[in-house]
Amino acid sequence: MKRLQDGINKLLDKIGRPVKFMEVCGTHTVAIFRHGIRGLFPGISFISGPGCPVCVTSRRDIDNAILIARQPDVALFTFGDMMRVPGSLGSLNRARAEGADVRVVYSPIDAVNAAANEQGRKVVFFATGFETTIPLVAAAVETARASGLDNFYIYSVHKLVPPALSALMTDDRVSLDGFILPGHVSAIIGPAPYGFIARQFHIPAVVTGFEAQEIMEGVLMLLSQITAGRAAVEVAYKKAVPDSGNPRALTLIDGYFEPCDAEWRGIGVIPASGLRLKKKWALMDAEKVFRPEPPSSADLQGCSCGEILRGLKLPTECKLFGTGCTPDHPVGACMVSTEGSCAAYYKYRGPRG
Ligand code: SF4
Repeated sequence: MKRLQDGINKLLDKIGRPVKFMEVCGTHTVAIFRHGIRGLFPGISFISGPGCPVCVTSRRDIDNAILIARQPDVALFTFGDMMRVPGSLGSLNRARAEGADVRVVYSPIDAVNAAANEQGRKVVFFATGFETTIPLVAAAVETARASGLDNFYIYSVHKLVPPALSALMTDDRVSLDGFILPGHVSAIIGPAPYGFIARQFHIPAVVTGFEAQEIMEGVLMLLSQITAGRAAVEVAYKKAVPDSGNPRALTLIDGYFEPCDAEWRGIGVIPASGLRLKKKWALMDAEKVFRPEPPSSADLQGCSCGEILRGLKLPTECKLFGTGCTPDHPVGACMVSTEGSCAAYYKYRGPRG
C-alpha cells in the first residue's frame, strides 16, 4: 500500500494539477469512501458516475412496474432496493401497502420458482440492473421456458454501461481525466467495449476491483497514462476480467435480449443503452402483455440526480441533501440505494456532507 501511495503522490506531483476521475460504478463509490481513499489524495476528485442500477431506473419505469403490479392476479417480484424508489405514482412499497402483490427476491430464479408453485398467478420479474445481473435474468427466462411455464414474465429495464459512457462523453459540460471502470460489469463484457473512450475521446480508463489495493493500483495506472500522454483501456483486475469477458454469459444474454433505447433517470433516453426481450419471446414480455399506460412524469424539481449521475455536481451541491432528502426520507433515487452517490455521501460524510 505504501508503494502505491508513494507512486500516486509522485505522479500527482509530476502532473502538477488536480485531476478528476469518474468511478462509474456505485460499488466503487462506496469502496473509495470505505477505504478512505478520498482523504489520502486531495489532488484527485473522485466523481460518481451512472453505475448504480437503482439510481438510473426512470420514474416512468417505476410507474410501469406499479401499474403492472396493480393488475388482477399479478405478483410482481423485484430486488429489495427497488421498493423505495419514487415514481410519480409513489413507490412499490406504497403499492404493496395499498394491496398490490409485490414481493422481494434475492434472485430472479426465486420468481421462476414462485411461478411454478403458484400456477394461478401471473408472475412478473421487474428486471433492473446492468450487464452483471442480465445473465441471471436470461438464465431465469431459460429455466421458465424449459419448465414449460406460461405464467412467467419479465419487465426488462436493463441498462448497458458503455452506451451511457459514450453519451456522457458527448456532453460538453463533462470534463474528466480518467475513468475507473466497473469490475463486475467488465467481468461479463471484458474491456473491449470501452475501447471508444480511448480511441474517440483520448481519455485513460482502467478496470479495477474493489479492494483498496486494487483501486489504488487502478489510480496509479490512470496517472501513469496521463504522465505518458497516453490513453488506453487497461485492466487492473485481471483475476476477474478476462479479455474476452464471459462468453457463456454473453451467449445467454444474446439468446433472449436485444438492444433498445432506454430512459435513464435524470439523463433521458440514450440510444441502444437498454435490453429488451427479443420478439420471439414476446409472450414473456410484461410490457407487451400487460400494456401499462403510465402518466407522463418529468424528473423531480429540485432533485439533482441527473447532474450527479453525469458527474456535473456532487451530492452535497444539491440543495435538498441532508435536509429535505435523507436515506430515511429519500426524494430522489440516488439517496435510496446504498450504492447511490447521495446515500454514500450521507453515510460517510454526514447530513452536511
Ligand atoms: S440529495 Fe436527494 S434530492 Fe438531492 S440529488 Fe440526491 S437524491 Fe436527489
